[in-house]
Amino acid sequence: MISEERPAASRAQNDLAARVLAGEMRAAARAMRLVDDRTGGYLELLKTLYPHTGRAWIVGITGMPGAGKSTLTDRLIEHERKRGRKVGVVAVDPTSPFTGGAILGDRIRMQRHFLDPDVFIRSLATRGHLGGLSRSAGDVIRVLDAYGCDTIFVETVGVGQDELEVTQLAHTTVVVMPPGMGDDIQAIKAGILEIADVFAVNKADREGADSTVRDLEQMVMLTRETAVAASSASSHTNAHAHRVVREERVAGGAWEPPIVKTVAVKNENIAALFTACDAHRAHLETTEDGARKREQRAREELATIFRDTLLSEAARRIGGAQEAALAQLLRRENDPYTVSEELVRSLVGGGSA
Ligand code: GDP
Repeated sequence: MISEERPAASRAQNDLAARVLAGEMRAAARAMRLVDDRTGGYLELLKTLYPHTGRAWIVGITGMPGAGKSTLTDRLIEHERKRGRKVGVVAVDPTSPFTGGAILGDRIRMQRHFLDPDVFIRSLATRGHLGGLSRSAGDVIRVLDAYGCDTIFVETVGVGQDELEVTQLAHTTVVVMPPGMGDDIQAIKAGILEIADVFAVNKADREGADSTVRDLEQMVMLTRETAVAASSASSHTNAHAHRVVREERVAGGAWEPPIVKTVAVKNENIAALFTACDAHRAHLETTEDGARKREQRAREELATIFRDTLLSEAARRIGGAQEAALAQLLRRENDPYTVSEELVRSLVGGGSA
């Protein structure tokens, strides 16, 4: 253990953990605050909760502002509640009504869920600390998971590296597109194809939905052809590798994102959207492709937490030395490369940095 907890703090965290696991809403709220602020023995709390996590299905909802993400999330919450599921929502989108960026009408729309004890909505505004947004979102998701949420929706605006990293926390990511994107789809396709497990063409009551669906279908098809072309190109240089790639594709069954038209405001096709999400979940749970994605997710999470732990421990040990180094730089007595190497060397006790 890097920094020692006081026993009293540990006991308090164990107490809080027990109350979260018992499904006490106020305890969950408090735990999420600690985790988000990184205070009050939050690591001890997360460690205690960890063995009780891993059950929740995490669904990312992303897309540009105005696409209909929060209206859709609202419908999806309703759908899950009807299936008897306990729901968590983590809103990272600063424009979302869940995070408070709403006009009054939207706030009123959300209130029915705020009153439901089996829906826990938590918005995340904190971006400041080490490890950033994705670490905070990941930790909050873990508390919701331990609290007993069956499904956790994570709403983000699909821009920026921070938001992309948050998207990677989801098992299934729904990219919400409004109709009439036209050429814009081409411009953003590289980014969204990478993260989309399911496309929702929302506002399908508006003109242009069918052509957006066609554009997306074409994109998905093109990706498939590129993948096949890439694997046959490799056969020219290495027949064995080609066979392995092909067998993997057959055994692993690469996922192609389904495209579902929805009208969130009229509650149309929400069940179809969920069927597509459920199919993706089944894919992840039963195929080699899914096993690889799960491993990738765990790898990224470990990398984030490791980096975060390393940096905070380094900052703690270095103490004032970084400021002293800065002063040297400002006096131009040294360069930032040498200064950084010296700081690292002071940490690892004189070994080569
Ligand atoms: P977000 O910014 O992506 O979260 O989008 P919102 O959910 O706040 O929706 C933006 C606006 O589009 C709101 O005025 C919604 O009422 C409206 N909207 C959402 N879904 C639909 C839909 O399916 N059809 C139509 N016509 N409007 C919708």
